[in-house]
Parts: sequence; C-alpha cells; structure tokens
Amino acid sequence: MLGEVTDLIEKHQKFAITSHIRPDGDGLGSSLALNWILRSLNKDSEVVMRDPVPQAYLNLPGASEVLVVPDLDCQYDAVFVIECSDVTRPGLPALNTQFVVNIDHHTTTELFGNLNWIDSTAAAVGEMVYNLAKAMGVKITPEIASCVYAALLTDTGSFHFSNTTERTFKIASDLVKYGAQPAKLSQAIFYQYPYAKIKLTGAVLSTLQCDETGKIAWIQMTHKAMQESGATEEDTDGIITYPLTIGDVEAAAFFRELANSTYRVSLRSKNRVNVAQVAEHFGGGGHKNAAGFTRVANYDELSRDVLARLKAAVANAPALNGHGNEIKPR
Ligand code: 5GP
Ligand code: MN
Repeated sequence: MLGEVTDLIEKHQKFAITSHIRPDGDGLGSSLALNWILRSLNKDSEVVMRDPVPQAYLNLPGASEVLVVPDLDCQYDAVFVIECSDVTRPGLPALNTQFVVNIDHHTTTELFGNLNWIDSTAAAVGEMVYNLAKAMGVKITPEIASCVYAALLTDTGSFHFSNTTERTFKIASDLVKYGAQPAKLSQAIFYQYPYAKIKLTGAVLSTLQCDETGKIAWIQMTHKAMQESGATEEDTDGIITYPLTIGDVEAAAFFRELANSTYRVSLRSKNRVNVAQVAEHFGGGGHKNAAGFTRVANYDELSRDVLARLKAAVANAPALNGHGNEIKPR
C-alpha cells in the first residue's frame, strides 16, 4: 500500500505518471501534484497523457509540461497510473511492458498494477497523493497545494457530493494554508467556458425527458448538435449535472453521440442510488453516484436498456430514514 509506494520511490529514479483518456480534474491535478512531489525528491519524472490537457486545467502549475503522446516510448523504473479502472484506460499500449503502480480511489478498479494502492475512502486521488507527500516528508509547495486542491474541488463536485467529509475540509484548509488560492482555481476551472459550450448546453437541455415516476431524467446530444454549436467533446462535460438538480430526480443519463453511432454515456445519481453497477453492465465503471461508459449502439435500443437498468437501480436502492441516511439491511 502506501508504504510500498514510498519504498519504491526511495529506491528508484526514473518515473512517469499518467491518467485516463480525457483526463479530469482529479486525474490531472493528482498527476501534476505527484510530479511536483517526485521532482522535489530529486527524481526524474514526467507526466505523460494520451489526450491533451482540457482548457479548464491549463492554468494548473505544470500543465504546460504534460507530454501528449500516442504511447510511451522508453522504459521507466515505474509508471504511476492515476485513477484508472484498468490498464487500458490511459490509452497507452506500452504500459503492458512497464512496472505499473496503480493508484485509485474507485471501488470498481481492477488490481492491474505491479503495485496497487487503492483507498476507496479518499474523496479524490489527490487526497492520497497529499498523504504520500506527507509520508515522504515533502514540503507542500503552492504548486502541490494548487494541484491537489483542484483534484479535491472537482471530484467532490465543488464540495457538493457525499464524498465530502470533515477530512476533505481539513485537507482543503491545509492546502489553502500552503498557498492554494480557492477563488483563483475555481475561476480558472468553472468561469472560463467558451461561448459554444453554453450554446450547446442550451440545445442539449432542450432534449430533457423524465420517466413516468419523475425519478429518472435523461438528455441527449446528437453529433450534429455538437458540430452545429462549434463545441468540442470536452465542452459536454458538466451538462449532466442539470437534470440531477430537479428535486424529484434520483438518477440521470446523458447520451452523447460521438461519430459513427458511438455513444458516450454519463450516469449520475443522488446518494442512495448506485449507477456504477449500471455502467459496469455496459462495460464502463465509475463511482456509486457518477459513472459512465462508451459503446457503439443504436440510440433507441441503448437508451431503452440504460433507462430500464436505471429504473431497477432506483427501485433496488436502500430506503432513507428521516435524516436522509440510508437504512442499511442488517
Ligand atoms: P463522466 O460521466 O464524467 O465521463 O465519468 C464519470 C465517472 O465515470 C468517472 O469517475 C469516470 O472515471 C467513470 N467513467 C466514465 N467513463 C468510463 C469508462 O468508459 N470506463 C470506466 N471504467 N469508467 C468510466
Ligand atoms: Mn477521482
């Protein structure tokens, strides 16, 4: 676990860090933070990703140094794979020939690494990376603090999700003390959208539908709508939040048509409903309240199957007591 990871770092020199395709705030923030940590320990380290850094994270310290490549082209002492459910998620085939350290906080992750450090109690992998820095006696610089803060901020949905705990705020408070600037980071991540993203959001939200119970909502984006708005796939991130803001809705789906009848589906739910299991059924994964998958499919069939499984997930979810907590079967 953590001890094995710190041993490995102490004993070796040359490292790479990667995360999943279309990296998000935790994947990137944690990778960049770990890179700063390794460099402060005088290690040779670089962040290598298949996909470019999204606009929202370009201002994070070190983001401009991320190597965007189709595959790894040299041998490292170890490659840290951040928040990936399996070894194919980074989209770098040569990972198969590397010593892999799997660092994740998902419950659905495979133990694909030569070392596996999984902590499903961490709100974000950023929290684990922060613990690693502390365990290795690394001074938390403003760079490390900012990257970890971005990871925490995004993976807790700006501290809205149920993974937000007293510990999250304690760490966030430490990070601010060490130089993370909350308003500046939030501005960069959530207030720098392109015009096309908001136009596309309008078009997508106009497709909103609910089932007869009012508990399941879904939205749809055709490839044509994306092209007409001038938006990119990256601009579709976050739109799924809106259907879930409806009071009665417990689970939501966003069907995005990429080219060639390929659909990327995002699933979200409120507390008690588990959408990770639904995503897994379709070959994806994620967290209980935020999951997804990509599939080549016919829209009518896919949406019918996904909505049926969401209905079952809502029907099978544990009941809540008067305080909004799950009544757990004994
Ligand atoms: P999003 O809906 O924002 O794309 O993804 C939400 C969550 O589901 C993230 O935690 C992400 O890692 C997970 N997820 C999305 N797509 C996939 C997928 O294709 N495979 C797996 N294993 N997880 C996914
Ligand atoms: Mn994460």
